[in-house]
Amino acid sequence: MFDWNDQQKETRAWAREFAEREVKPRAAAMDGNGVYDRAVIDAMFEAGLMGLLVPERYGGRGLSALEYVTAVEELARCDASTALVMSIHSSLVTVLIAAFASDEIRDAVLPDLATKKVGSFALTEEDPTEPTRAEDVGDAFRASGTKMYITNGPIADLIVLFAVTGVTESERHGKVVKRDEISALLVDVEHTEGLTCSDIEGKMGLTAAPVGRLVFSDVSIPSSHLVGERGAGFKMAMKVLDAGRIGAAALAVGVGQAALEAARSYAISRVIGGRPISKFQAIQMMIAEAATRLEAARALTYQAATALDRGDHISEIAAMAKLFASEAATFVASRALQVHGGSGVVRDLHPVERYFRDARVLEIIEGTSEIQKLVVAGHELKG
Ligand SMILES: Cc1cc2nc3c(=O)[nH]c(=O)nc-3n(C[C@H](O)[C@H](O)[C@H](O)COP(=O)(O)OP(=O)(O)OC[C@H]3O[C@@H](n4cnc5c(N)ncnc54)[C@H](O)[C@@H]3O)c2cc1C
Repeated sequence: MFDWNDQQKETRAWAREFAEREVKPRAAAMDGNGVYDRAVIDAMFEAGLMGLLVPERYGGRGLSALEYVTAVEELARCDASTALVMSIHSSLVTVLIAAFASDEIRDAVLPDLATKKVGSFALTEEDPTEPTRAEDVGDAFRASGTKMYITNGPIADLIVLFAVTGVTESERHGKVVKRDEISALLVDVEHTEGLTCSDIEGKMGLTAAPVGRLVFSDVSIPSSHLVGERGAGFKMAMKVLDAGRIGAAALAVGVGQAALEAARSYAISRVIGGRPISKFQAIQMMIAEAATRLEAARALTYQAATALDRGDHISEIAAMAKLFASEAATFVASRALQVHGGSGVVRDLHPVERYFRDARVLEIIEGTSEIQKLVVAGHELKG
């Protein structure tokens, strides 16, 4: 078992209390309507939950990765969509800006990202063969293209856009190899014309999370909004995604925890033939397998977060944690649904079908299971 210090225990207790009070009562309605309740984001800003990874000097909490994952886990235990809104904003956007942006950009946006402005991270292309391009026109870049499945896109104040800004040439085995030069640009939505953000409706899970399709039509972005060096966009994205995957793993652990708790309490309260179903070995086997996989997922997630705090290379352990935890969450939620019998498939009776739908989507976001396996294999097979 993990040896938590007092501060870590307090952070978890604080996040749990917040999630139980502000998030849990709204979760079923948000899921049913497929619409995110802005009041939850405002409450998260107010409580300081959107600035957990923003350094203290910019008005955030500057938490360690290990403490941060406990907060994500507690939010996800009550509502995975809320945990997604918070974790993309935090572990991808605020971390990228704190780590790579100029002092001017940091000073200008980090205090707002900690207290009132929502960030989103626009990497995925609608059509990878036609990536979003941003042409250098002197004092600005002009961006055109379509980004897809962007969390917080429809409600974002600030978007980190990854776009092709040119072509780089390098030599490999005596041949000149051309590659897209990808840069990160900060888009201030309020002061931007030519950007259309629409909500992607009809998701099977994480239904409430505001996930959008962003169309950039000749959008002008000042050159001063370049985040990090020109051409370093892909490298920076991969760097923060490594750490972001630990947040995604924590999200999965939170959903799995909610499902296991639901399975346990239903198994104890449901009586068949004069006995609670928890007395049946078939039910016990399901609970035992689910609890074991969840505990393993949790251990891997905390191990990855601890490695990040130590400054180790985390790309392999983070991919392992994301891969294992998201698949474990689907397993646990599926078993929890089975334990609930018919009532498990009825949305208005028990939340387990929501846990199942949410967990399944977690196997896709922030890199599919296949991509995590490629990362792990790449490390294991390195010559
Ligand atoms: C709810 C939700 C929220 C999201 N939020 C964000 C966000 O905030 N920002 C953002 O940029 N993106 C976001 N995404 C996008 C998400 O990260 C991608 O959907 C995911 O990484 C898969 O990319 P894709 O959809 O382009 O699938 P594709 O890359 O087209 O993959 C299709 C299939 O091919 C497999 N595949 C692809 N490449 C390989 C390979 N080399 N080897 C083996 N198999 C391969 C994949 O595993 C998958 O099974 C979100 C997605 C969802 C569903």
